[in-house]
Amino acid sequence: MAFYDVLVVGCGLSGATSARLLAEKGYKVLIIEQKKHIGGQIYDYKNDAGITVHKYGPHIFHTKIEEVWKFVNRFTTFSNFQHRVLSFADGDFINFPINRLTVNKVFGVNLTSEEVPAFLQQEVEKSRFNNPPQSFRDKVVSQVGERLYGLFFEKYTEKQWNCDPDKLSPDLAGRIPVRSNNDCRYFADKYQGMPTHGYTKMIENMINHENISVLLGVDYQDIKNELQPKLLVYTGELDKFFDCKYGKLTYRSVKLDFQTLDQEQFQPAPVVNYPNDYDYTRITEFKQMTGEKSSKTTICYEYPSAEGLPFYTMPNKENELLREKYMQDVHSLEAQGKHLFIGRLAEYKYYNMDMAIDSAIKRINAWTL
Ligand code: UDP
Repeated sequence: MAFYDVLVVGCGLSGATSARLLAEKGYKVLIIEQKKHIGGQIYDYKNDAGITVHKYGPHIFHTKIEEVWKFVNRFTTFSNFQHRVLSFADGDFINFPINRLTVNKVFGVNLTSEEVPAFLQQEVEKSRFNNPPQSFRDKVVSQVGERLYGLFFEKYTEKQWNCDPDKLSPDLAGRIPVRSNNDCRYFADKYQGMPTHGYTKMIENMINHENISVLLGVDYQDIKNELQPKLLVYTGELDKFFDCKYGKLTYRSVKLDFQTLDQEQFQPAPVVNYPNDYDYTRITEFKQMTGEKSSKTTICYEYPSAEGLPFYTMPNKENELLREKYMQDVHSLEAQGKHLFIGRLAEYKYYNMDMAIDSAIKRINAWTL
């Protein structure tokens, strides 16, 4: 495109959302994307068995933010899939997150929902932890006690982050609810589901606008000195933008092992977590999420890794402090009106998909040329 006002770096969810909103405000937008496809890390495709798989690991859309739900529904319809997870612990498939059924199974009791909180309180009182909680371990133990922590959280978290859970932020525990009722859903959000024709199609529809052009296979680092947009929306890694001048932020990755099996179903839930005993953290069976019918099934093992594409920000003090340094530079740049840093990688925040969209909506709406 010969002329554009805005350059968006990255065609993932944050980039596509930002581009769409700016295009609708009348700006000409050029998106550059390092990968050879759109969609960033929510990219999905149909494999040879005709099953839709998520190339960079499982994504389940869920939100309680009305505006975000309205926004995504402009570009796709959603199935009414409600995500469910079982945890393979003590040689058995057990409901996870912890709810009444989990407590009854693990402890061999038969509590009512009303009795569960007092039971968990007894477990907590038997346990040792810092109060107020200083770490992920403290926070989980303060909610459910050491026995359930040891069974479901300790080893999973060590594998996932290659880090002592006592060194991880207590906020991480906020991702996993503790329930006393029989609710077996992984997410309690009002709106959840899978995009009917996949995430790639949703992104394709988002960027399908006369004011938007896309260039694939282009690395921002290679062309950054040649560009003079009125606004740069950056959705790549935060530290990279500043040539890692304060040091490298840690991004955690996952090695994904996809297998297509000659059987209709592999496991009793769309996702089974393996907190103990195995090198992988979880197995996803995609057709249980998409509802596709096939005589075969595709599953995916996740092996957390330090090497590979940046999937996760690292929820610990060291990276939080480093982030703060970079964010001061971000704030100074953004104050001049020509830059916006948006999304999980650029804001270095453990965003879910809806939070990334919410951030883009808020930031773009607040921006004026
Ligand atoms: N977690 C755990 N056991 C589980 C599931 C999660 O200890 O069975 C912890 C682990 O530290 C993980 C965090 O909770 O990184 C957040 O889990 P979530 O399922 O939200 O991770 P994501 O889907 O983002 O990989």
